[in-house]
Amino acid sequence: MNYETVIGLEVHVELATESKIFCSCTTKFGGAPNTHCCPICTGMPGTLPTLNRKVLDYAVTAGLALNCEIQKNNRFDRKNYFYPDLPKAYQISQLYMPFARNGKVEITTRSGVTKNIGIHEIHMEEDAGKLIHSETDGITLTDYNRCGVPLIEIVSEPDFRSADEVIAYLEKIKSIFEYLGISDCKMQEGSMRCDVNLSVREVGSETLGTRTEMKNLNSFRGIERAIKFEAERQIRAIEAGEKIVQETRRWDDLKGVGYAMRTKENAQDYRYFPEPDIPPIIISDDTVNRIITAMPEFADTKAKRYNEQFGLSKGDAELVAGSKHLAELFEKTVELTGNPKEVRYWLVGQIFYLMNEKGIAPEDIKLSPEMFAEFVNIASSDRINKQAGKIVFEAMFMSPERFDIEGFIKENGLEQVDDTETIRSAVREVINNNPKTVQQYLSGQTKVVGFFVGQVMKATGGKAKPDTVNKLVNEELNKL
Ligand code: ADP
Ligand code: MG
Ligand code: ZN
Repeated sequence: MNYETVIGLEVHVELATESKIFCSCTTKFGGAPNTHCCPICTGMPGTLPTLNRKVLDYAVTAGLALNCEIQKNNRFDRKNYFYPDLPKAYQISQLYMPFARNGKVEITTRSGVTKNIGIHEIHMEEDAGKLIHSETDGITLTDYNRCGVPLIEIVSEPDFRSADEVIAYLEKIKSIFEYLGISDCKMQEGSMRCDVNLSVREVGSETLGTRTEMKNLNSFRGIERAIKFEAERQIRAIEAGEKIVQETRRWDDLKGVGYAMRTKENAQDYRYFPEPDIPPIIISDDTVNRIITAMPEFADTKAKRYNEQFGLSKGDAELVAGSKHLAELFEKTVELTGNPKEVRYWLVGQIFYLMNEKGIAPEDIKLSPEMFAEFVNIASSDRINKQAGKIVFEAMFMSPERFDIEGFIKENGLEQVDDTETIRSAVREVINNNPKTVQQYLSGQTKVVGFFVGQVMKATGGKAKPDTVNKLVNEELNKL
């Protein structure tokens, strides 16, 4: 039998407001345990939560950017559960009246397939604290710094058919939220977390299979491996005549295996009820219109513009525009130099290469547009050739703090040599040392010119001006 994998995602995103959702404590990541807390976010009796206006703004912004219908009437609900990561013993969330519904996100996978993923709903809620289990002394410590950090939960329709589509969707959301400045979506710091609901069914079937849910996956690679593992496990079980049990599973990324945690709870277990301490919230048309007017240019539009205006290939344009940080670096450097062609050359040739080679994420690039511009101005003059430029670029890119481009060029003797006498004598020497290749040239194999040029470049330590080398090699060969 042929199977198809069906996936729906629940994505939690921390909103980058300065203070928490219902109190004025800081949302800063880290900090000594239990120092970013107050009586409200630790659920002391007698305290009252107040909704942070900025959280509502950011949430509506996210909803509109994901093409949702914003719900005018909003309410919060209590989701009761007894677990020490939430001292109140309930989480304030939105079950019955989420603020956004019926959205969609257009994704393009690595293999170039474009499709829409439906958004079922988005709701606001507060984050829980962290439990630190100590294996040596058998105790559990609690850190409530994260309690009350604002979250939105984006619930998709079961529209994904592969890990590739899932990754494309997460990357798209990350890029959109980065441009909006409403979240940094850092999976490794937990500001973006993903639950994967997965079932399998026979290809062509219209009904959904029984799904399992994998909680809190926190890296793209982990998600990819977990999906593969779980789909194969379900197919094997079905082939063996077993029934899939609807359950919550945990993925162990170190061991590369998933295992059952608990059979699926349902809404009843949480005894949801309307939050009595927060009045209903009405999102006015004015709020929605104000946010729509302030929407920035997103990656798709930017990529199209880079392709048309600056001649970046479609793939390169998508890569640059996909990251707000890279797009800013590119646009500002072009503005400072007025030389998009040269900026493009170093961006695509060197920045992409070095990011790949050294495993650097776009947002971790430290090179400033000012320094990149200074480099581009030097590289497009006759001062250094491309080969020397690459050496300078790598050193500058890897540690740009107080990097001295001019000093580096001088110290390493990288200035371009364009002195005819020096280059001509190197050309003669190379010709004298390679009589066989000279014979090939004389018998009509003009291809070997390239070999001579390469040898002369090598002999001059890569610093000779390539145009001059080319010219003099041809001149000297023609004299033979
Ligand atoms: P719950 O509230 O119990 O988590 P929902 O019905 O809200 O369940 O669904 C949660 C997520 O699971 C959604 O993203 C949805 O698309 C997905 N989902 C639901 N049924 C299936 C299924 N049979 N296979 C794959 N994903 C599913
Ligand atoms: Mg769920
Ligand atoms: Zn607080």
